[in-house]
Amino acid sequence: MSLLPEKPLILGAGPAGLCVGWNLALMGLPVTILEKSDEIGGLSLTFHDDGYLLDLGPHNIHTIYPDILSFLNRVLGDDLRQHNPRVKIFFRKRLVSYPLKGIYVFKSLPVTTIIPAGLSFLWARAMMFLRDPKKDDSFEDWIKNRFGRILYNYYFGPYAEKAWKVRPSEISNYVAEKRVPILSLRDYIRGLFKKQPRHFHSEDLSQIKHYYPKKGVGQITDFLCRGIIENNGIIENNTSIVAVNGRGNRIESVTYEKGGTIKTVKTDFLFNTIPINDFINLLKTDVPHGVRRAASELDYCSEVLLYIKTSRQNIFETPLTYFADPDIKFNRVYEVGAFSKECVPPGKSALCIEYTCNIGDEIWTARAEELFKDAMDIFEHYGMLHHKEVEGYLIRRITHAYPRFRIGFEARLKKILDYLSTLENVITLGRQGLFCYANVDDVLYMGFRATEMLSTIRLKGINYSELFPRYVFF
Ligand SMILES: Cc1cc2nc3c(=O)[nH]c(=O)nc-3n(C[C@H](O)[C@H](O)[C@H](O)COP(=O)(O)OP(=O)(O)OC[C@H]3O[C@@H](n4cnc5c(N)ncnc54)[C@H](O)[C@@H]3O)c2cc1C
Repeated sequence: MSLLPEKPLILGAGPAGLCVGWNLALMGLPVTILEKSDEIGGLSLTFHDDGYLLDLGPHNIHTIYPDILSFLNRVLGDDLRQHNPRVKIFFRKRLVSYPLKGIYVFKSLPVTTIIPAGLSFLWARAMMFLRDPKKDDSFEDWIKNRFGRILYNYYFGPYAEKAWKVRPSEISNYVAEKRVPILSLRDYIRGLFKKQPRHFHSEDLSQIKHYYPKKGVGQITDFLCRGIIENNGIIENNTSIVAVNGRGNRIESVTYEKGGTIKTVKTDFLFNTIPINDFINLLKTDVPHGVRRAASELDYCSEVLLYIKTSRQNIFETPLTYFADPDIKFNRVYEVGAFSKECVPPGKSALCIEYTCNIGDEIWTARAEELFKDAMDIFEHYGMLHHKEVEGYLIRRITHAYPRFRIGFEARLKKILDYLSTLENVITLGRQGLFCYANVDDVLYMGFRATEMLSTIRLKGINYSELFPRYVFF
C-alpha cells in the first residue's frame, strides 16, 4: 500500500503551502490548494504597480539551511543576488547603527541621562551573573535585566510597544531572545575599538550572508506556483472556507464558498498553512473546549504598508531604517531600489513604510492620504524626502503580519498542537499554521520536511516537536 495521499489538499497559497504543493505535484499527486485572496504567494508575493515591483515589506533572505540555499540558487540562478541590507535606527533625531553599538546609543541620549544609563547598563550586566535568566518572563524584564532600566525606558520599551501594539510587559521574552542581538560586555568593549564581536545573533545582519531575488521575493512563490500548475495542480483563489469536516480522528473534506457557490472537496490528507486559530475555528471535529479557548487566545499583529514612489534613489543611508521614537507612528522603512534596482524604474525608487496596527484601529482604517501626510510630515521635517520628489503613493493592508507572542503563547500552542497531532491525516505548518517566528527560508524548509516525512507521519502519526524542533520547542 502506498503511503502517499491520493487526494492531498492544502489550505493557503503562501510559500509554505506552495512548497508542499510543488513537491507533491512533482511526485505526480493531484494537488489542490484553496487560497482566500485573489493573489498567490501570501506574505511573500511581489505585486506590480506601474513599473514598480513591490514586496509586502522587506524580504531579505538569509538561511541556516544549506539545502534551502541550494534550492533557491537552482531555482533563481543569477537572479538570486547577494546583497548587504545595512540597518540604521532613527532614534532621538539621529541615525544610529544597528545592532546597538554602546557608544552610539549612549551618545543619542539626553546628556544628563548618559551616566545613569551607563551605570544602569553595567549594573544589569553585573546582575546577570547572579540571576536566573529563566525568570525573565516578559520582553520588558528580559531587556531591563540585560540593558538596564534607562535604555529600556528610552529605547526598547517605546519601540516594542509601537511594533507589537501591546504593553511590553505582556509580550513574551521569546521576542527579545529572537529579535534583540545581545553582545557580551567584552564584545561591547571590542565594538568601542571598532572590532567585530566574537559571538553573533541571527538578527545581527552584519554577520551573515544575505540574498534578494532580482525581481522581488515573489520570484520564489511564482516559481512554485508555475511548477504546480505545469504538473496539473489546481490553485483555487477567492475561496472562503466554511468548514473542515471530519469524523473521529480523520479529516474527510473541506467545504468552501466561491463566487456564491458552495463546494465540498474530499481529501485523505490535509496540509494547513492558514492561521492556526482560524483553522481550529473551522474544524467540525470534536475539538475540546480548552483547545478552542487556547486558539481564541492567540492573535496576530496587522500592518498597513504605505508605498511612496520617489524620483530619486538612496533616500536613506541604509536600505532598512527603523524608527524607534514613540511619536513617530511607523516603525520601519525599506527602500525598494536599494534592495534591487530592477524593482524600480531607472533612476527612481520607492519606500515601503510599515505601520503595525490592529484591525479596526485608527491606522487600519486610515485612508492612504492620511498615512501619506503622516509619513511626509516626518520625512520633510527631518529633510529625508521632499514632496517634489514624490511621484505617487499607495497602501496595502495585511491582516496577519506577525504572530503576537504574548506571555504564555507556548502553552496555548502546545495544547492546540497536542490536539491536532491526534488527527491522523492533518499537518499544520508555516508561519501562520505553526504560529511561529518564521521567514521564507523557514517555511520552505517546513514544506520540504513535511513532504519528505509524509510516509513516516502517515505510518506513525505526527510529533511536532520532533518534526520541527526549531519552531516547536516546548
Ligand atoms: C512586513 C514583513 C516583512 C517580512 N520580512 C521578511 C524578511 O526580511 N525575510 C524573510 O525571509 N521573510 C520575511 N517575512 C516573512 C515571510 O513573508 C513569511 O515567513 C512567509 O510568507 C510565510 O509563509 P506562509 O506560507 O507560512 O504564510 P503566508 O505567506 O502568510 O501565507 C498564508 C496564505 O494563507 C492564505 N489564507 C489565510 N487564511 C485563509 C483562509 N481562511 N482560507 C484560505 N487561505 C487563507 C493567505 O491569504 C496566504 O496566502 C516578512 C513578512 C512581513 C509581513
